[in-house]
Amino acid sequence: MTVFKTIKDLQIYLSPYINNGINIGFVPTMGALHQGHLSLIEESKRQNKLTICSIFVNPTQFNDPKDFEKYPITIEADKTLLTDRNCDILFLPSVNEMYPNGTSLNNNYKLGFIETVFDGSHRPGHFQGVCQVVENLLRIVQPTNLYLGQKDYQQCMVIAKLVELMGWDEKLTIHICSTLRETDGLAMSSRNLRLAETERKQATAIYKSLIATKSKFIENDLSKLMETQKLFLLNNGFDSIDYLTIANANTLEPLTEWDGKQKIVLLIAAFIGGVRLIDNMLLN
Ligand code: AMP
Repeated sequence: MTVFKTIKDLQIYLSPYINNGINIGFVPTMGALHQGHLSLIEESKRQNKLTICSIFVNPTQFNDPKDFEKYPITIEADKTLLTDRNCDILFLPSVNEMYPNGTSLNNNYKLGFIETVFDGSHRPGHFQGVCQVVENLLRIVQPTNLYLGQKDYQQCMVIAKLVELMGWDEKLTIHICSTLRETDGLAMSSRNLRLAETERKQATAIYKSLIATKSKFIENDLSKLMETQKLFLLNNGFDSIDYLTIANANTLEPLTEWDGKQKIVLLIAAFIGGVRLIDNMLLN
């Protein structure tokens, strides 16, 4: 695996691939890699001549500076995991390389309704920061295929909107890969590293809530079901809940009733031991 730290060096390396129309697969990450990330690398390896992973903890998408400071960094272990998976290239830029003019948030992306709900409303500016860094990365890497995890359901929709705003729909294909879970159901996440042992065990309550809702939503009133699941989380170790909401899976419009036809998704964000975990599940 070749590691590039500057945009210029990476672009010199990539230009023959781009000029000859050779498929490039791209997996953007913030590092502290786990099997979930590696499943995206594997999918890209299957479909592309060249696979690039980026590791960059993007300051502009953290609305909470403490969350940014505490974000786990395990770069040597990450390199080993990527090398083992035969990832071709690791792009590892510094903050200065990505933001030579400073890290002020660019708030120009017109994302519409999807930015007004869930992480859009609970983490103001978060998706603008995500778009800012992903647009930069896409323009640098010029990939054919982009690999994202369904774990970040709303982020996938935001990035699809970004690609549309960039006018790249024809030139770039987005692949949404399923969420990888630990054996007890907890969605793999770099943030899990920050959980103490008891919290780590209790954190599976999110998965239990997702499964329970999936099995019960047809016969039950959605509002009551959501209230019951919120109480379940709070009674099982979670300190607070940002949202636990069933929404239209295509528009993210929150729902209190199901019309028997719409594709619906349950989205959860909740805090345990000061760590904010998110997860989701398509219910039908
Ligand atoms: P992150 O490093 O958390 O920004 O994630 C980088 C990419 O990996 C994003 O597209 C995530 O959605 C994806 N990802 C994170 N966790 C998982 C998981 N458990 N399963 C599959 N993909 C994941």
